[in-house]
Amino acid sequence: MLQTLSTAFIRTLREDPADAEVASHKLLVRASYIRRTAPGIYTWLPLGLAVVRKIEAIVREEMNRMGGQEVHFPALLPAEPYKATQRWDEYGPTLFTLQDRKGGDYLLAPTHEEMFTLLAKDMFSSYKDLPATLYQIQTKYRDEARPRAGLIRGREFIMKDSYSFDVDDAGLDASYQRHRDAYERIFRRLGLEYVPVNAMAGAMGGSHSEEFLHPSPIGEDTFVRSDGGYAANAEAVTTPVPPSVDASAEPAPQVVATPDTPTIDSLVDLCNSTYPRPDGREWTAADTLKNVVVVLIHPHGERELLVVGVPGDREVDMKRLEAAVAPAEVEMASEEDFKTHPELVPGYIGPQAIGPNSPLRRTETDEQGREVLTGSVRYLLDPRIVDGTSWVTGANELKKHVLHLVKGRDFEADGTIEAAEVREGDLAPDGSGPLHLERGIEVGHIFALGRKYAQALGFTVLDENGKARVVTMGSYGIGVSRVMAALAEANHDERGLAWPIQVAPYHVQVLATGKDEQVFATAHALARELDAAGLEVLYDDRRKVSAGVKFADSELLGVPFTVVVGRDLAKEGTVEIRDRRSGERRSVPAATAAAEVRATVEAALVAAPTGEAA
Ligand code: ATP
Ligand code: MG
Repeated sequence: MLQTLSTAFIRTLREDPADAEVASHKLLVRASYIRRTAPGIYTWLPLGLAVVRKIEAIVREEMNRMGGQEVHFPALLPAEPYKATQRWDEYGPTLFTLQDRKGGDYLLAPTHEEMFTLLAKDMFSSYKDLPATLYQIQTKYRDEARPRAGLIRGREFIMKDSYSFDVDDAGLDASYQRHRDAYERIFRRLGLEYVPVNAMAGAMGGSHSEEFLHPSPIGEDTFVRSDGGYAANAEAVTTPVPPSVDASAEPAPQVVATPDTPTIDSLVDLCNSTYPRPDGREWTAADTLKNVVVVLIHPHGERELLVVGVPGDREVDMKRLEAAVAPAEVEMASEEDFKTHPELVPGYIGPQAIGPNSPLRRTETDEQGREVLTGSVRYLLDPRIVDGTSWVTGANELKKHVLHLVKGRDFEADGTIEAAEVREGDLAPDGSGPLHLERGIEVGHIFALGRKYAQALGFTVLDENGKARVVTMGSYGIGVSRVMAALAEANHDERGLAWPIQVAPYHVQVLATGKDEQVFATAHALARELDAAGLEVLYDDRRKVSAGVKFADSELLGVPFTVVVGRDLAKEGTVEIRDRRSGERRSVPAATAAAEVRATVEAALVAAPTGEAA
């Protein structure tokens, strides 16, 4: 049935919602695509549903094409499978959990690895059943710490998740590659620019993974690219380790008074004015070793103090740090934490009081007979801090630092950690040149999981020789609702949305202006004819609404083509076809308008990107 605007469940807003910071969020609410229900939780209105259904249809077609079979799980799930894989704990506060009337633990699924593994285990018993790919398009729940930007980071959101099952590593590689190809086809068809980047596996476990990032200044992910083709999420960037340095000429450590040096810059200035370097070179921030105390919150709630040492000219990047210590979460150390470790003098922490160098360090044997180090706080270093490098750092006494403290000669650490910020111009780990930093929205993520879930849930199949083999798996997600927001970000201007036709809620909007009955009759007939021809048409039939408001609404809604029937009908016998995306306007005779609009819409649909590479 032809949808008229006077009866449509659409109420546009002139004002941006108070809680919205990014364009997609503001416009999707103002144009009546979504409404907020609770923080990070949105209700889909008819326009929003129309768009999300089109995105889903493209995802579904490509998943079917690559051999996936669709299933649909409940969102409300029993806890046991998630307890078996430890994720009940590892997900921590991000998991929405609840109990039934009998006290049984349940959760609202944040993702479904466990359930797919169990389902496949239930149905498959032989290598002949594999390979297999199952998928669903379903609502997920995560109590995100920082729900943000509308649909971009929701607490309820729509995800396409798929899972591959194979007997051997070669099979997994092939399944992974088929998914990767399907993802490229999906993002191409959506017309959404994407960059596949190396990623960290994070709480998901597993070996190899890539993210599909949509480059955008509002993205929460920082990623890097080198001119030589390296691309990675900043979290996954590894630091090329420099060769160790000959420190035989380096002076012995020298403890010096450094009052009033609250910042690295003030410390460097004081060193240059009071303790000039013997070789005449200036001290710089890169000569200082900054030791940052953080608390790791392990999955069972256990707190561990950790000191991270980085060159003083770099910040600790909390996202890189969190990725490096996952599934533990990270907090800054509190005053209480410092009280439990009086050897840590805030502002003057040096390697001598921590890690293997600490006089408090003991070796003990745990219940399993393993040797563990206790007593002092664990100390991990940025990989650039190699043997022989010399540092200005805290002396573990108020208002004192130490010069010429040499790694390997004067101090050691418990290991290295990738936690320092990545900077523009840093070198790619694969030797492909300097890195450029960009921001992106993560719209998809593919993981070669391996055997972690199958192992934990006892999923084996019999191979050719009748031997039980643990199945190897992949898991693959696309944030369908986040994709919709990313498309809105990429396709809007200051007046509103401007959808690409393959995801637009309607193909064309017919708009009648003025009061002339003939105008409304012509517009209505045109809208009906287009609708009957199979086009998706929205007809703005509102009577007492000014042309200005109608134009503003039409631009806000972002339907690709608008046909304006107005003054020119009586004067010239013409109507105007407007292209929302290019801004192009063209007058056509009313008599041939229907044919013109059909041809225009059909041409746009044909010109929409296919899945093939350009
Ligand atoms: P992020 O790092 O953004 O939190 P993630 O690594 O937790 O994402 P996955 O678990 O890989 O995400 O989920 C698969 C996809 O689901 C992501 O690539 C993303 O597009 C989408 N997604 C994840 N979390 C959210 C969310 N809170 N709101 C909307 N979409 C999300
Ligand atoms: Mg997440």
